[in-house]
Amino acid sequence: MERTTPFPSRRGILAGAALTAVPSALLFATRADARPRAVDHPGAAWHPASRSNYTPSNRPRAHPLHYVIIHVAQTTYSGTVSVFRNPSRKVSAHYVVRSSDGHVAQCVRESDIAWHAGNWDYNTRSIGIEHEGWVDRPGYFTDAMYERSARLTAAICARYGIPRNRAHIIGHHEVPGSDHTDPGRHWDWNRYLRLVKSA
Ligand SMILES: [Zn+2]
Repeated sequence: MERTTPFPSRRGILAGAALTAVPSALLFATRADARPRAVDHPGAAWHPASRSNYTPSNRPRAHPLHYVIIHVAQTTYSGTVSVFRNPSRKVSAHYVVRSSDGHVAQCVRESDIAWHAGNWDYNTRSIGIEHEGWVDRPGYFTDAMYERSARLTAAICARYGIPRNRAHIIGHHEVPGSDHTDPGRHWDWNRYLRLVKSA
């Protein structure tokens, strides 16, 4: 979505040297949403989920954050973003990571409760990260995706004091009551945790 034709008033900004000094996420944040600083993760692009697909909150005051929950979307990056934008889907995650280059979209503010875990208690206490791809297509799990996702998870852990270990960085399949299998057997947890710890 960030490659759509810019509004005329932005063309000068986009063409100018100012682009290098201004994170693109902020430019698009102001276009997509009135709030001036829409993203929590520097460099993320703001692709807001429908307000019908998450619960506004003021975490971590309302609910302490204990988990980062790793998902595989079973669809593409753009498909995931558009599902979250569709008010009839009743689902969202805070972030979506693209396979080809590790590009990160933020769809729900970290202070709000995204609907991704299939378990209200876990939703209230977690940040959800979707990854483009399918559990049975490991080719989608690129180096760029692992690295950018791990940097995102490390930053979330630092923000909320979440320990960087497998008890707190969990797969969707590990959420009590979940009938989902993601991220699946091809997700390399050892590699991911190593990257998170070294980020
Ligand atoms: Zn999932």
